Amino acid sequence: MVTISVREPHHLLVNERDAVEPGPGEVAIRVHRAGICGSDMHILHGTNPFAVYPRVIGHEFAGVVSALGAGISSLAIGDHVVADPVISCGTCYPCRVGRSNVCAKLQVIGVHRDGGFRSTAVVPQANAVKVSPKLGLDVAALAEPLAVAANVLWRTGCTGEDVVLIYGAGTVGITVLQMAKMHGARCIVADIDADRLVRAREFGADAVINSRTQSVGDVVAPELDGLGPSIVIDGAGIPSLLEEACRIAAPAGRIGLLGFSPAPCNVSQQEIVRKELTLVGSRLNRRFIPEVITWLESGALRPQAMITQTFNARDARSAFDLVEQHPERTLKVQLAFE
Ligand code: MN
Repeated sequence: MVTISVREPHHLLVNERDAVEPGPGEVAIRVHRAGICGSDMHILHGTNPFAVYPRVIGHEFAGVVSALGAGISSLAIGDHVVADPVISCGTCYPCRVGRSNVCAKLQVIGVHRDGGFRSTAVVPQANAVKVSPKLGLDVAALAEPLAVAANVLWRTGCTGEDVVLIYGAGTVGITVLQMAKMHGARCIVADIDADRLVRAREFGADAVINSRTQSVGDVVAPELDGLGPSIVIDGAGIPSLLEEACRIAAPAGRIGLLGFSPAPCNVSQQEIVRKELTLVGSRLNRRFIPEVITWLESGALRPQAMITQTFNARDARSAFDLVEQHPERTLKVQLAFE
């Protein structure tokens, strides 16, 4: 089977390997589509602090169940499924309070253990979420990044009352945008790239800000009767934005962070207390994939246009090069496995 792995930082390997068999409690998935994520690039470049090498990467994948390990009752061969990459223990404090994505023994498929960039992947049955065969497996493979957006909007409590300012019109920003629009919120997207802002408009942004030429604070100041946006999401992962976010957010506002930079930033305690701001981190997703799938199946979410390119898995190197060299031309690049 075709397998794409990172042998060590900077060494992407595309080769043929023997098929894998599911162990007890596991299912094998014949992978059809798998999306390339920024975190895959980080593993390739040795900048993901959690990755263990060598590693078969890929955590955004969908396919068809092809084999069952011992003790599987909830799935059958032929079922269409999408993987939830979050493996949690179910017994530690965060698991007990419903926050399995920050489990004390967290394992992420494609990061801590081998992932979905291979013709057949093996996952615990709890990590294979059934989807209707009517849903394209390309769209199903978008469920994981959409669940990341669902998670941050749950953490920030997004409703139709909100004005959401999203920094960054890349993959994270565009998924958050679609999800926030689905909740009925007004959405404003800021980015330094004019083409990306055109794309944000196409995905439903009510207003866009070119932060290279415009002051984000000035543009959003009139929102909510002059209070500013009630939710600010950093979809760009830039630590220095937090200071601005605290300054421009409305009283009772929420700020959602998804970046993983270790760099510190200066935030005024006064802004946080005066306005009772809530700062939240959001990592992966806490079992939002089943809900995302209902939204995809009902048509409440129509993210098909996010798939900007599809490469044969054997051409993975070209796909990675494109993501790296022309981020402005890509939103979600997928690999097709035969
Ligand atoms: Mn991802």
